[in-house]
Amino acid sequence: MKKVLLFSLSASLLFMGCGSSKSVSATSTTQSNTTTNSSASKSTYWQQHVDYKMEIDMDVNNYQYQGKQTLVYTNNSPDVLNKVFYHLFFNAFQPGSQMDARLQSIADPDGRMVTEVNGKKQSRISTLKPNEIGYINVTSLKQNGGIVKHTTAGTVLEVTLNKAIQPGESVTFDMVFDAQVPVQIRRSGRNNAEGVALSMTQWYPKLSEYDFEGWHAYPYIGREFHGVWGDFDLKLTIDKDYVVGGTGYLQPNPVVNGNKKTLHFKAPNVHDFTWAADPDYIHDTMQVPNGPMLNFYYKKDLPAENLEGWKKLQPKTVEMMQYFSENIGKYPYEQYSVIQGGDGGMEYAMSTLITGKRKFGSLMGVTAHELAHTWFQFLLATNEAKHEWMDEGFTSYISDQAMDVIANKNADNPSAGAYRGYDYLAKSGKEKPQSTHADRYETNMAYGIAAYNKGEVFLSQLGYVIGEDNLKKTLKQYFIDWSFKHPTPNDFIRVAEKVSGLELEWYLTDWTMTTNTIDYGVKSINGNMVTLERIGEMPMPIDLEVTYTDGSTESLYIPLQMMRGEKPTTATTIADWAWAHPTYTFEAKKAVKSVEIDAKNLMADINKENNKK
Ligand SMILES: [Zn+2]
Repeated sequence: MKKVLLFSLSASLLFMGCGSSKSVSATSTTQSNTTTNSSASKSTYWQQHVDYKMEIDMDVNNYQYQGKQTLVYTNNSPDVLNKVFYHLFFNAFQPGSQMDARLQSIADPDGRMVTEVNGKKQSRISTLKPNEIGYINVTSLKQNGGIVKHTTAGTVLEVTLNKAIQPGESVTFDMVFDAQVPVQIRRSGRNNAEGVALSMTQWYPKLSEYDFEGWHAYPYIGREFHGVWGDFDLKLTIDKDYVVGGTGYLQPNPVVNGNKKTLHFKAPNVHDFTWAADPDYIHDTMQVPNGPMLNFYYKKDLPAENLEGWKKLQPKTVEMMQYFSENIGKYPYEQYSVIQGGDGGMEYAMSTLITGKRKFGSLMGVTAHELAHTWFQFLLATNEAKHEWMDEGFTSYISDQAMDVIANKNADNPSAGAYRGYDYLAKSGKEKPQSTHADRYETNMAYGIAAYNKGEVFLSQLGYVIGEDNLKKTLKQYFIDWSFKHPTPNDFIRVAEKVSGLELEWYLTDWTMTTNTIDYGVKSINGNMVTLERIGEMPMPIDLEVTYTDGSTESLYIPLQMMRGEKPTTATTIADWAWAHPTYTFEAKKAVKSVEIDAKNLMADINKENNKK
């Protein structure tokens, strides 16, 4: 999802990234935990498949549309399915919905979703009139031609099947529905703040994902993405003056009939489909050499400086596409669209919707972030409700890396802002483990920092733990092994383990499933003897800079014993630190004047004061 300005401290969220990496060849075959190769470890992996065909007739005057949808659903699971579920996201935009209730009860609601009435904050959803709400009303549903029973429970359609779907079986669902586009409250909707007519996200009945953890028929409260991979085929009938952009490839020769046209889009191997439309879009294109065509849709009535920004953005987006393709994996589709729309910036398949009245730096930074989500959500499709840090954090990390190069920032550590955000959260008393369901944080602040900042630090700090080159290789191998799938946190850390030859389960567990903190300190220096102490519960290996009394310096590396190995380093490696010991003493080769733990600030130590003596 979009990058948020959570509070002033994380203005740095706009541009973050992390330490740079050099390349060195892999040396990962010596360790004991490299016994399984990736194809063997994936042999039990399966995922469902669905192909969508939709015919939509949009009335741009009353914002209502009629839909016919045919799904061919293939059950690749080993289980017999008696039910299926669909998401009806637009039903969230109705007074009394769960999204409305959440807005009214959370301490720090999203400012875009509330309005002040008589000095009191009120949920904007609660104020919607019948012709302003969103809805998807399913009027008919058939399974292989036979009518099936279905119940709408808020944003979820519960379907009891006539005949169970056997493992390996494909069935066809035919649905008829009518729907209304809500006044824009969050992301989707009509007439956004900048006057874009239609931001069509989460707009169609979407089959819920069934995976190794069962059904994920999440109500729509905040997070959207965990979808079934498949091919989409959309025939969209709309007023002929409207310019439409979004997911997929527009087929040639639209059919014009009176004052309407029918556009035909095809999108192979995606898990979501989005579009936006406006009669006043300018449509520019730019080809990425050996890559996709880039499309830019923005309104001609933007102020001159913004129009100029949207032009300047285009060659920069080419650079971004090249950066991510080189550093993660090649962009696999034929097009990508940057579209003015929505209410901030939000990622979708082959596209982003982003508000257009931005200073150039913001336009570029948010585009980089949303484009990076193509990899960390739309190719490496993690469950956004459960592992929000894997898409927001990884995206923030790589887009900050990219912007450091493309916008010539050349920061010491492009992720420094993320470390500051995490530090604030860790000391706020409001932190929850990153394994918390995204809808279940008590505050948006705690969600946002855990997902974006702590998620970014997870990767940046992993570079400290396993070495920057191993981190770079890990990202590329992760893409090779898991693109077009649904990787889990464990899948990611196993890739890092295989690349580095190091045991890393401790890192995943402590960082993502607990709120344990890192605090190492220098306890004493007596002549040649140095004693360090571990105050926090979270283990870490230690990089130590030593200055001797004769003025010379040396870099030392203290491996963490539970990693069962060492990162590649030019530092002098000394004895392991076995975690349970609260102190660690070593004898240096000469008299020591001073030492500093983690001089490069790559470890998220919550008390830096004691790192130096
Ligand atoms: Zn994001």
